[in-house]
Amino acid sequence: MTETRRHGAGDETTDELQTPRWTVVPGPARTPSRGARRQGFRTTVAVDAGRFAATMSRRLGMGSGAMIGGRIALSLQPRLLANLAAGRQVVMVTGTNGKTTTTQMVVEALRSRGEAVSNATGANMLDGHVAALMARRDAPYAALEVDELHLAQVTREFEPAVAILLNLSRDQLDRVGEIRTVERSIRNALQQAPEMHVVANRDDPNIVSAAAEHPGVTWISGGARWVHDALNCPRCGAFIEDTNGPWQCACGLARPEADWTVTGDALVGPDGTRYDIELSLPGHVNRINAAFALAAALHLGCHQEKALDRISRVDQANGRYGAVTLAGRPVRLLLAKNPASWLEMLELVSSHDRPLVLVVNSREADGFDVSWLWDVDFEVLAGRSVLVTGDRGLDLAVRLRYAGVRCDLADSVEEALDTLSGDSGTPEIIANYTAFRDLFARSRA
Ligand SMILES: [Zn+2]
Repeated sequence: MTETRRHGAGDETTDELQTPRWTVVPGPARTPSRGARRQGFRTTVAVDAGRFAATMSRRLGMGSGAMIGGRIALSLQPRLLANLAAGRQVVMVTGTNGKTTTTQMVVEALRSRGEAVSNATGANMLDGHVAALMARRDAPYAALEVDELHLAQVTREFEPAVAILLNLSRDQLDRVGEIRTVERSIRNALQQAPEMHVVANRDDPNIVSAAAEHPGVTWISGGARWVHDALNCPRCGAFIEDTNGPWQCACGLARPEADWTVTGDALVGPDGTRYDIELSLPGHVNRINAAFALAAALHLGCHQEKALDRISRVDQANGRYGAVTLAGRPVRLLLAKNPASWLEMLELVSSHDRPLVLVVNSREADGFDVSWLWDVDFEVLAGRSVLVTGDRGLDLAVRLRYAGVRCDLADSVEEALDTLSGDSGTPEIIANYTAFRDLFARSRA
């Protein structure tokens, strides 16, 4: 604590102008209260215990240790997330699809300005956030992926600097619930953090509804792709005729003007400046993710060229889009876990004719229900021959047969790869969540 006092008031003379007239007088040092000391001690113990648990988990080969470390630390100090976030600029990234990739882009962009941490392994609830923040307590920046239904829990604890709202679409309806519930939860999260800046998708009516009343929003437009969860107004249920047009609902909700627009090969900023981008990651969907990451980074004072350069060098995010080796041959791994992300990944593989393996599981983390297979437009593969496998390979084979796609069923991805001839190009594997996770782990074993 310091205070400033003015002294030597009176007629100004040349001498007085040359000597400083303001002196900083240090205020009395405050001794921390017993309560604050106890909280600080508790935080230190919680962080030490969490780090120890994470290290042991890694040494025992039980995973990255992020979840167990974070969980133990939180059980010892329930206020730990707020304590660890204090004094840092934290960007939270949420939405149904693109969280992990966009978080990776944001953390890279922030590193152009200073040390930054991230929950790169995808542990996207509070224990994962605690683990990421305690990994480097001196890092001034953090980019954290957060599960859509947990953003409200985060903003109850502390106010992040920025929240990125990517998109909302049907996903694991038996586990996550209806989109309207998720939208209301995000709206509530924003109300709890009025100072937080929001970077949001103006082409997704569910996101527009979540952020419409927020005081500070940067709107991104990359075009609506999967529109089947956005045909009706999230507020009143009225039919929205054209999600990609300037819709305005009778209840007052309307498509906002875009600040950033994503075109075929560039990002166009709020002042009309055009940034040509060439990303290492494929597809229009990643140009949209890059626009979100850049807008968040610029809000936190990053230099645009340095940030964009780092964003464009991101070439995989926890295995997504990664070139890996499986069964002794190079393959590319793509994650698709709901109709909207299958739409994007099928578009990527439709532009060429490399061997294609599709894998669908239905374990707890995937959601047990696979009726969404019938919402995916597999017809874009009509005339091609693909290999299918996974717990629900048979369901997938039936769906593909109705879509006019020739397919063979294999017991495993390795068996599927064995049947391919060597000269037909790098095979691509599209897998849903647990299938993807296990393949990525096996590729690194
Ligand atoms: Zn409405």
